Amino acid sequence: MACESRYSLTIFIFSFDIIATMKRREFLTISASLPFLSMPLCADDSDDIYLSLNDWPTLVSLHERLTRLRKYVGYMGFNTISLDETLFYARNYPKIGAFTQNEMDLIERFFHEDPSKYGFFGKRTCESITNVIAQKEIVKIPYTGHFLFKGKAHEDYTKLTKDIGTTLVLTSGVRNVVKQLSLYVAKIHSVGGNMTKASISLAPPAYSYHSVSDFDVGRKGWGHKNFTADFATTDEFLKMKELKYIGIRYTRNNRDGVRFEPWHVEVI
Ligand SMILES: [Zn+2]
Repeated sequence: MACESRYSLTIFIFSFDIIATMKRREFLTISASLPFLSMPLCADDSDDIYLSLNDWPTLVSLHERLTRLRKYVGYMGFNTISLDETLFYARNYPKIGAFTQNEMDLIERFFHEDPSKYGFFGKRTCESITNVIAQKEIVKIPYTGHFLFKGKAHEDYTKLTKDIGTTLVLTSGVRNVVKQLSLYVAKIHSVGGNMTKASISLAPPAYSYHSVSDFDVGRKGWGHKNFTADFATTDEFLKMKELKYIGIRYTRNNRDGVRFEPWHVEVI
């Protein structure tokens, strides 16, 4: 998909308000022609829904603030941090900085809005934006930087590593609202504000099964490829498919509208 500029730079005279009232495809095309906005937004011929031009700077600053927060609390702690703890750190540590009202509004919107308009039809898994995951509910999995929920999830993972071997590793476990939000925001950022694209490749913050049970696995040493369809070609996946106690939540053409995720283990 290529960005095309059909409008001249005389569009500079337009105010943000005027631009915001334009039809989506029109203003996205215009935005692609305005270098001072440094927006990667790109018009296309699909029916994909995009974040509005007015919300883009907020999305960028939110993405940057959450990145600073992650660096401050550390990779592991960031998986479970609650929104209340997040706001506390942001207020008290100038390196992170307090969230702006616009950022808070965007957080609330991403948590509460119905994502079916973007093509995501999964079930809501988290009712409270201030959800707390207690340390006693989870167990740390050594050398992974991740936690699993005690009980079925931990039992399934333990069985899996026994049946498949040590080349199978946990790549993502428990994720509370803020971690899921940060992944969602990063995804929207990386796809230039395309909410449709973002939502089918990453569950919105209130809709992740990582907040209640599921986990991701991969092949040791495979890095980012573990989160591509290539994982379905590995011995680890083929062996996993044969195991009766394991399910793959997002199969090909699943009803949730989510892309095929062979790495995402469904905990029932
Ligand atoms: Zn997953």
